[in-house]
Amino acid sequence: MVPVELLRPASRLLIIAAHPDDETLGAGGLMCLLQRQRDTTVAIAHLTDGAPQDMHDATAAGFRDPGAYAHARRRELNAALEQLPDGTPELYALGFRDQEVAHGLLDAVAVVRGVVETFRPTIVMTHPYEGGHPDHDAAAFAAYAALSGPAAPKPPPRLLEMTSYYWTGDILHSGKFLPSAEPETTLHLSREVLAIKQRMLRCFTSQRRIIDALNVREDERFRPAPHYEFRRPPAAPGCIFYERFNWGLDSATWCEYAEAALKALHIAPIDVCRTAQLWL
Ligand SMILES: [Zn+2]
Repeated sequence: MVPVELLRPASRLLIIAAHPDDETLGAGGLMCLLQRQRDTTVAIAHLTDGAPQDMHDATAAGFRDPGAYAHARRRELNAALEQLPDGTPELYALGFRDQEVAHGLLDAVAVVRGVVETFRPTIVMTHPYEGGHPDHDAAAFAAYAALSGPAAPKPPPRLLEMTSYYWTGDILHSGKFLPSAEPETTLHLSREVLAIKQRMLRCFTSQRRIIDALNVREDERFRPAPHYEFRRPPAAPGCIFYERFNWGLDSATWCEYAEAALKALHIAPIDVCRTAQLWL
């Protein structure tokens, strides 16, 4: 059973994932249990198609170009979600390029608001802000900003987080969060549910190397989204995983984008003392 402190019966859950496979890594077991309980409707919105525009990424993954890579990722996603007891949840493809959501944060907020207006979730679940991937951080920002400020839906859905991955300078951590003051709920997956999740993950053949490196655990963790200060990097220098790659984006630039977007959306800065960014 899914604990009621995490999700009340008759909820409408919208998962905002940066890439196809993030929903399965973070909440594959949860989706499985919710479908069995039959009292919660789940939808998934993917910010990107999971295919970076750099030709090298496509060819390294075995595809002739980014378009072919994107098609493959969509096929993998559909195959994975068909493994769920009731099959594929409602899907929304939000149309951003992989690695590039941060360059269009205002657009990301607008499309997330559009999905929220259409699906009318009671709960929105997304990535934590932790410097693992700039699109994961952009998803955290877009979900937060879509539900904040003068244009927020009233009442706003609760904002929860699933786990992704983060770097501490020597180890890539997955299946758990950077520490915050928010209480976590741990969902222990039965052998049967874990087997379904692993079958789902095996469908993402183009991502096998990274998924294998992430060491999928026997539980899933969730928590309310902390009060992030998006104008500051989420981790100490040297602990922003994506800065290890030549993706043309560092965390300082990411934060400048976030600050400009918050200003444009008339979302007041939060009190830094309330943030859970413990390294500050
Ligand atoms: Zn991802």
